[in-house]
Amino acid sequence: MIRKKLIAGNWKMNKTSADAVSLAHELVTAVGSQPDVEVVICPPFTALEGVAKAIDGSLIKLGAQNMHFEASGAFTGEVSAPMLRAIFATHVILGHSERRTLFGETDEFVNKKVLAAFKNQLKPILCVGESLAEREAGATLKVVQTQTERGLEGVSKEQAVTLVVAYEPVWAIGTGKVATTEQAQEVHAFIRGLLTKHYGEAVAQKVRILYGGSMKPANAPELLAQKDIDGGLIGGASLEARSFTELVKAAAGAA
Ligand code: PEP
Repeated sequence: MIRKKLIAGNWKMNKTSADAVSLAHELVTAVGSQPDVEVVICPPFTALEGVAKAIDGSLIKLGAQNMHFEASGAFTGEVSAPMLRAIFATHVILGHSERRTLFGETDEFVNKKVLAAFKNQLKPILCVGESLAEREAGATLKVVQTQTERGLEGVSKEQAVTLVVAYEPVWAIGTGKVATTEQAQEVHAFIRGLLTKHYGEAVAQKVRILYGGSMKPANAPELLAQKDIDGGLIGGASLEARSFTELVKAAAGAA
């Protein structure tokens, strides 16, 4: 089973809508017709609609960085899945470690969002990963197991096929410290094992498991060559057309 590699850019709280649209135009020119790699860009909410127009007609897909699980209502400051679908978003990052640590998101809260995303035909990019203290305490696999299983509670086999999981060791995000290929592959294989246990081999072999955490053009080829690393969730290196394009090319080379 050959899984198409996926490179997703998490722009976080960066770029005005004008700057985001301009980066999106650059990316359309550079990688907008790359058929071998699925490319998803996740700008901030304020730029989603402008970026949707900029990438229209290209192969680049649109993702959001978060959403609420309710469809509408009195949730000041929140955005819902139907709102994202209405502007042609196809993916949504859920349970990013910054949401978990800075905004107190629990596995149960993330799970509600995952279910709401599927219900609205959005593909969740479910982020899981251990902190440095957890890794040093030998708890990496336990933490990843809990976050994965709780995050996916109630998700059916049919839904799981379109799921994307991102393994992001928290200590590697934005720090320049990248997990070794062995560390990353070990956790990716473990996650695929969990998916096999819950959804069966055929489904687990279809799920893309991305690595995230200081992935750069220099370290990407080795990571992307691993059996269970199906792409990257990219923070810092997604903010500039040149580095993001190089990452997409690295993924095409590893396809
Ligand atoms: C991220 O926040 O998802 C991420 C992987 O960031 P960075 O690439 O900057 O480490």
